[in-house]
Amino acid sequence: MKKFILLFFSLLALELQAQNTHCPTVLSPENLQWLRSFQQQLDQNGLPAANVNPVYVPVKVHIVGNNEGKGYYNVSSLMRAMCDLNADFEPAGMHFYLAGDIDYINDNDLYVGNSDAIWFRSEDYKDPRAVNVFFHGAGNQWCGVYFPGVDVVFVLNSCQGPNATTLTHELGHFFSLPHTFSGWENNNEPFDVERLDGSNCRTAGDGFCDTKADYVSIRWGCPLAWNLKDPTGAFFKPDSSIYMSYSSDNCQSRFSQEQMAAMNANLNSRNISKATADTRVLPEPKKRFPLNGSQNQNPEGVLLEWEAVPGAFAYHVQIARFGDWNFLNYDALVFDTTAVVKLFGTWEYAWRVKAITAANTCGSFGVVDTFSTKEIPAGIVQLEPDMPVSVYPNPVSINEKVLLKVKQKTVLNLSAVNGKVLQSLVLEPNEAYELQLPDVGVYFLLMQQEQGLKVKKLVVR
Ligand SMILES: [Zn+2]
Repeated sequence: MKKFILLFFSLLALELQAQNTHCPTVLSPENLQWLRSFQQQLDQNGLPAANVNPVYVPVKVHIVGNNEGKGYYNVSSLMRAMCDLNADFEPAGMHFYLAGDIDYINDNDLYVGNSDAIWFRSEDYKDPRAVNVFFHGAGNQWCGVYFPGVDVVFVLNSCQGPNATTLTHELGHFFSLPHTFSGWENNNEPFDVERLDGSNCRTAGDGFCDTKADYVSIRWGCPLAWNLKDPTGAFFKPDSSIYMSYSSDNCQSRFSQEQMAAMNANLNSRNISKATADTRVLPEPKKRFPLNGSQNQNPEGVLLEWEAVPGAFAYHVQIARFGDWNFLNYDALVFDTTAVVKLFGTWEYAWRVKAITAANTCGSFGVVDTFSTKEIPAGIVQLEPDMPVSVYPNPVSINEKVLLKVKQKTVLNLSAVNGKVLQSLVLEPNEAYELQLPDVGVYFLLMQQEQGLKVKKLVVR
């Protein structure tokens, strides 16, 4: 079985070299056999009823950078892509949601879409119960592709910008749909050419009877600039609205009824989780730090903190110098309520945070806060000795408590050596707080005050 798929895959790789295509997906014989059988049932039983409620489909997102971790698909684009994808699939009654954290991968070969690397390595990263989509930044052999056998989708970052339909098209392949011009991939006339009158629509082309005949396997703007001629001599232009054609992204707006029925039946036949997912738009998180308008933040590590929003899957956090959101200094999905961000220089920065649910990444940002940084000369980056915080005793033994007293409002994070925040407290001025350390070891106290961030090492014996 594996040997056969490998052979099939090699043929695909050969084809990739032969032409520089928009989407070189070739469905496997197993995929096509399943589809033919489904299409025959359509003729016997008619269209199945559409979904009353959407079916929720988990998507595991893998973002591939090069070996240095450069070239990642950015989080803002991903949020928009998921939102657009759900709008495109809404008529099909399918709704996608993020299956956990983003999987960041640094791998030069996957980054350029090397077919061998995809075949041998992408399996290691897969979530077997989700749709696996890899975004990569380089290579010119496709905009997107679905690899049967390994069952993964690869999308080139630059092909999934605003209003792009690459991801929608590739997930169409994932759920069994061929191209509408199926049979014409190499621009040669197939044995059985689909006729305009639909008389051979089940056996020719994509096998769907509600998608028009289409012979164009190069990218085209709509309407097609020339006419096609079917075997009966009828002239026509293909339907540019179907996602599975090669018309430009801006021409595409739909799947056909039979295509949507096939995708739903295919999803049901797969071992993909059928859990429900939260689609709510959540309220905006209340920001805690830095205080709005605060000065002199140490750019080596600015601590951002906000209050948890019940039901949040994650928080989308952005920082932009001078509030120019086209050039982000930080753009991340954070699964906690704090982030320590390295910035640079002595500048004014704006920041904003949005709570999202796994199945709704569409909401907009709310209030923007600002702070400014001040670079501290090398060597004394971490400590500002004049900052009025007292901490006793240090080092402490495991059964002692640490007493904290501050002269001004402080957000305190106790973190382990690996950076994981163990405890978070807001300290009011001149009140004493006791801190119980969990275990022997080294900890860091990150204390955020108006003047900036102060870090103290705490040794527990
Ligand atoms: Zn395709």
